[in-house]
Amino acid sequence: MPLSPAKFPDLIEAISATLNEHADAITQLDQAIGDGDHVFNLQRGVEALQSHATEIADLDWPAAWQKIGMTVMAAIGGASGSLYATLFISLNKNTKDKPVSIQTFAEAFQLAVAAVKQRGKADVGEKTMLDVWVPVAETLKRAVSEGQQLNVILDQVCAAAEAGVESTRDMLATKGRASFLGERSKGHIDAGAKTAQLMIEAIARQIRSAA
Ligand code: ADP
Ligand code: MG
Repeated sequence: MPLSPAKFPDLIEAISATLNEHADAITQLDQAIGDGDHVFNLQRGVEALQSHATEIADLDWPAAWQKIGMTVMAAIGGASGSLYATLFISLNKNTKDKPVSIQTFAEAFQLAVAAVKQRGKADVGEKTMLDVWVPVAETLKRAVSEGQQLNVILDQVCAAAEAGVESTRDMLATKGRASFLGERSKGHIDAGAKTAQLMIEAIARQIRSAA
């Protein structure tokens, strides 16, 4: 299973590399309609996860998600910290006593994204990371239930993430700091949607190269 704890150190390295590579561009996005700290928030979280990577790799699946969630919660400030912590802690709940499989993950992930929606009191169309995570979760679940090959699943998920991030450009922000700008939030991609897409792409690339 490409997302089992044993694969975790490589996945977190891939995420770290993409955030570092795109840090300046992400900061520019967050400066345009936020406070500019988004990539630093995520980088702090990733560094904390790197320092626990081997420990997490030895845990069982639900325990690994819980540890990831608690680590992220402690390390990341800002809105994105509690939202990502919610995502991972919900993955813990929804993978407990289930087989380690892509089917389990696809179902648990959709429930986890629903928990993030609830936590942030937000939904698709509000110019946030949810404009990526919601279509990605739906696409993943559909592709898995259709019995698609892993490569096809990854292609479809990456395409959904790209479309999602682009969709935020002309949206009016109604949640988070960008909402303070009202109409002036239009015309800029949301930084949190962009980092979600970059992380998904990095995970997909890592899974493909390990297959
Ligand atoms: P902060 O806004 O507290 O500085 P970050 O800069 O780390 O936190 O994260 C900002 C990102 O968080 C935004 O770009 C947006 O994608 C996401 N975000 C903000 N508020 C919400 C919310 N209520 N629901 C979902 N995502 C949100
Ligand atoms: Mg910010």
